[in-house]
Amino acid sequence: MRIPIKDEFTNLAVSRQRKYQLRKQRDRRCTECGAPAESASRCLKHLIAARERQRARNKPRKRYLGTLSYRLEAAFKP
Ligand SMILES: [Zn+2]
Repeated sequence: MRIPIKDEFTNLAVSRQRKYQLRKQRDRRCTECGAPAESASRCLKHLIAARERQRARNKPRKRYLGTLSYRLEAAFKP
């Protein structure tokens, strides 16, 4: 049997997925894939995916280009 993780999230009354997300956030990693994520809760790929998911749901008329995911996108893509 594998040894269960014992940390500050072990006894929280939240789902296993939420604990995974909280642990990744604490370790400054993407909450979806575990890749390094320095300035946000997700890596750039998943930051963009999450943004576009919300865009599809909320159907906003404008894009706020000052948002972190747009700034990172501009910085990393030529
Ligand atoms: Zn990711």
